[in-house]
Amino acid sequence: EIRVSGLHKSFGDNEVLRGIDLEIGAGEVVCVIGPSGSGKSTLLRCVNLLEEPTRGQVFVGGTELTDPDVDIDAVRRRIGMVFQQFNLFPHLSVTENLTLPQRRVLGRGKAEAAKVAAENLRRVGLAEKADAFPASLSGGQQQRVAIARALAMGPEVMLFDEPTSALDPELVGDVLAVMRRLAHEGMTMMVVTHEMTFAREVADRVVFMDGGVIVEDGTPEQVIGNPSHERTRHFLSRLL
Ligand code: ATP
Ligand code: MG
Repeated sequence: EIRVSGLHKSFGDNEVLRGIDLEIGAGEVVCVIGPSGSGKSTLLRCVNLLEEPTRGQVFVGGTELTDPDVDIDAVRRRIGMVFQQFNLFPHLSVTENLTLPQRRVLGRGKAEAAKVAAENLRRVGLAEKADAFPASLSGGQQQRVAIARALAMGPEVMLFDEPTSALDPELVGDVLAVMRRLAHEGMTMMVVTHEMTFAREVADRVVFMDGGVIVEDGTPEQVIGNPSHERTRHFLSRLL
């Protein structure tokens, strides 16, 4: 599970996160919504220490990432991350994209890495693309490869930062379907997204951020269906 406590993050004079408290239980799916610049990506990046918090604590699976003595590389292996840009290696095949990090980071042998790669390509419905190169795939297929690559590392939690925002509308559904299946398998997930239908149907909780704070945190019915804050209502009205 994930626990964030009293988290602050500043870039120079710009205080981007102003005291975030958030818990995501094991197997829970939490969608984070909010206007551009509200600090959603910064929060996600603080959860795997791609950004170093200015103040506060982050725990993943009981380990404090913000403890100066922690082996941060070891903890990061337990956290999968998927970005808006898929960042696949263009000169490697789909299978090689999945086996390389397993071999480099986890020290897995060639045969085992290939087996795990095949399993996870099946999981995202792309078994037949094992030998293809990224450039020959659609954006949605590339993003599913990026998800499979993260899953092949055996993470305890998955973080998604607007995974469908760069995709043509007709390709969004396949990626969301993979994420939905992952949620049903019991993966702990934190998902920054503008896909309100996904948030309503898949999230256990929705968190609305604005100006570096969590304004509202509740079930999708509460936060999207019946928001109690004017800022949430305003944000949602512009979206629909
Ligand atoms: P969007 O919906 O556009 O992705 P966001 O909610 O993810 O927005 P962040 O990317 O977290 O917002 O950015 C929040 C603020 O932090 C912005 O004002 C941004 O300019 C600033 N910021 C983010 N990263 C950095 C950085 N590396 N250096 C300086 N400022 C940054
Ligand atoms: Mg962002």
